[in-house]
This record gives sequence, C-alpha cells and structure tokens, in this order.
Amino acid sequence: MPHPEKTDLLYTGKAKQVFGTTSPDHVWIHFTDGATAFNGVKRAEIRDKGEVNARISAHLFARMEAAGIPTHLVATPSARDHVCRRVEIIPVEVVVRNIAAGSICSRLAIPEGTALARPLVEFFYKSDELNDPLINDDQALLFGWAHAWELAYLRHAAAQVNLVLQAFWDELGVTLVDFKLEFGRATAPDQRGRILLADEITPDGSRLWEKGTMRHLDKDVFRRDLGDLGDTYRELFTRVFGAPLHP
Ligand code: C5P
Repeated sequence: MPHPEKTDLLYTGKAKQVFGTTSPDHVWIHFTDGATAFNGVKRAEIRDKGEVNARISAHLFARMEAAGIPTHLVATPSARDHVCRRVEIIPVEVVVRNIAAGSICSRLAIPEGTALARPLVEFFYKSDELNDPLINDDQALLFGWAHAWELAYLRHAAAQVNLVLQAFWDELGVTLVDFKLEFGRATAPDQRGRILLADEITPDGSRLWEKGTMRHLDKDVFRRDLGDLGDTYRELFTRVFGAPLHP
C-alpha cells in the first residue's frame, strides 16, 4: 500500500517517537524498546519490546476496523513503524476494567482480582505533570477537554473495543483484566472532527492474565519485578501470531 514517507522528528515519548511525513495529514510512529513505569520513574530498555508492541497493536487495530471502530492506523511500513492519520489527541484517557487491578484497588480498597459485575469505564486526565488523575465527565466538559457527544462516543467505543478484545484474548487463553485507550480528532480537511481510536493497544497498556495460572503477561511484569518482560512479550507474541518473533 503506498504511504507517505517519514520526515522530521516531532516528539519523543516514553516508548514511541512521532515523526512528520510527506503528507500534512499523517504522522509516522516508531515503537522503541524503551520501558517506563510510575510515570517515568522506573526505566529500562527491553529488547524486542517495540516490535512486539507495534505488531500486536497493528493486529488489534485491524480487528477494530473490522468491527466498525475507526482507528488512526493507515499502514505498517516496517515491523516497528505505523503510518497514522494525524489527530489532535483528546486529553482524556479511557480505561476499561473487567476485573479489579492496579489503581482502582489502592484507590477504593478493592481486592485485586475481584470480578466486576459489568465493565467499568473510567476517565483520566492525560497529564504527566499531574500523574494522569482520575476525572469525571463534568470536569472534562467544564475544562474543555472534550465535548459531551465526544464523551458519549468514547464510552460507547470503549465498550465495543472491550467486547472485541475480550473475545480475542479469551480464545488465546488469556483474561483481559483492563486496558487504556486514547482517542483523537482527525485533522485532515476531509475527516475533520472525526474521532479515531489512536495511540496503541498493547500489553504495555493492558492487563492480561493467563487463564488458570493468573500469570501476568503484561507490563506489570516490569512494574512489579515479576520476571523478564522481554521473555514475557516474546511469549505473548507467539500466542498471538502462532509463531515466534525470532524463529
Ligand atoms: O494504573 P491503572 O490500574 O489505573 O491502569 C489501568 C490500565 O490502564 C492498565 O492496563 C494500565 O496498563 C493502563 N494504563 C496505561 N497508561 C496510563 C495509565 C494506565 O496504559 N497512563
């Protein structure tokens, strides 16, 4: 598929670099091997992580498109690179939880592993300085981070993504505990205002527990020093694609 070419570096994130392209309406996202936790306090380089994340995310975005959920992904020029529609990121991170884990457990004293009676959607304000605080709809509206119709869409799309992802991971013997999504407003003149699923869907931004053993197959392995994240991600890759990353 023809796609625009990479130009100048625009932004370096914790695990990705964003480049401009020969098209004003597209960006080029490069997945690095950088790993961070606790808002950048803990850092490491994990061999193959960028490639595993880029390939799993592309695979899952294709599933979303097939399910009628539009995403920013346009092409995958290499195993670590995504060409994407340029978006203005909505600064509201959308977390969907099926089982209690992580911040909800400390915040509300819920035991980790508690099954939730229905999927829970939480909004967080995307701000490294503030450590991505939990917010409600009223705050998002009042401070102009999103419009009411956009919040409604975010909830609806997140619930749909959850159904597709749950079925996907379930078939692979993995329980989808929770995950985070980011959405953006497309900037191209012919797409203006259209909301696209953006960023990534990866084991960096999800909690995935092996059925039966409850073994963590996600970035909690790094956050909590539970083992070798590279080995965990290569194992997850094999599960997803049916063949190892490096045969
Ligand atoms: O930390 P918390 O339990 O709220 O995270 C919920 C889910 O969202 C986890 O899967 C985590 O990996 C993801 N997350 C993320 N980026 C953040 C915060 C959470 O990917 N800034």
